[in-house]
Amino acid sequence: MAANALFGPAGFPTSFFESKYKRDRVNGPEWLNQLGLDLLELQMVHGPRTRPDVAAQYRTQGEEFGIRFSIHASYYCVLSSVKPDVVERSFASLAKTAELAAIIGAPRIVLHPGTTAGGREVALDRFITNMQKFVANDLPDGVHIHPETAGKVNSLGSLTEILTICREVPSCRPCVDFGHLHCRQLSELDTDNGWTFTKPTDYIVAMDHMKANLTPEQWQDMHYHISPIQFTAKGEKKHRTHGEMISDDDANPVVGEAGDPWFPIAEQFAQALAETGYPAWVVSEASDSMDRGALAMKQAYLQKVG
Ligand SMILES: [Zn+2]
Repeated sequence: MAANALFGPAGFPTSFFESKYKRDRVNGPEWLNQLGLDLLELQMVHGPRTRPDVAAQYRTQGEEFGIRFSIHASYYCVLSSVKPDVVERSFASLAKTAELAAIIGAPRIVLHPGTTAGGREVALDRFITNMQKFVANDLPDGVHIHPETAGKVNSLGSLTEILTICREVPSCRPCVDFGHLHCRQLSELDTDNGWTFTKPTDYIVAMDHMKANLTPEQWQDMHYHISPIQFTAKGEKKHRTHGEMISDDDANPVVGEAGDPWFPIAEQFAQALAETGYPAWVVSEASDSMDRGALAMKQAYLQKVG
């Protein structure tokens, strides 16, 4: 099976700033090349503030060191909002992010769909209508928006909702966060399916379901996030460190016993990817250990691909 997946971190862990790259993020591609990783998800989660000249430097460095880019858009971009002024600001922020993506050469922008205020179905409709408007007017060639599955049950973004968005807005592609889907297992919404992602076959079943509900172009551009994660009945509570075990304080009948691993386990997903050969860009969002999470996945993947 030929390798068909790329791996990298969500932004920069402490270890980057302690490295010889001297806190300068445009050296990220060189650092990742040294580590043996493939991609970097740039975090514009507090707004697209990167200067255009810095964006151009990322592009040059990415080309030199063979590193691809994606961008995580601002948390304050809420296209599902009931408030027209919030939607207008969100359009402006997303348009600026897309301009930077075009300069950087980042074909993928990850976006949280946002609130379900006023009711899930109407919020989903608002998101779809606003996204259709955005892609018709403001999306540069070669850039796609990837709405992400949400870890909090009350946020828009069950897997079914993300697949519905992609059906209604064909230029969108999913960002499937398995940590978030793992957190939704206690959800009683009929758009949730109770998948736990505690063994490799869970991923294969889920990916087959996605593949069956997407166009070939969308499937080719699949984007994934993964991190071990703590949750309650409401969903996501906290991203945990790569390889971390559950402590006595956090143990409970739902998440597991002390000494058990936090799920999902990134290497299990990497094995499922290797087994299927499915296309993927995979971003580790493990807490301050996303470089280690990405490397562990790449190693598990290459071992199985052979
Ligand atoms: Zn995520």
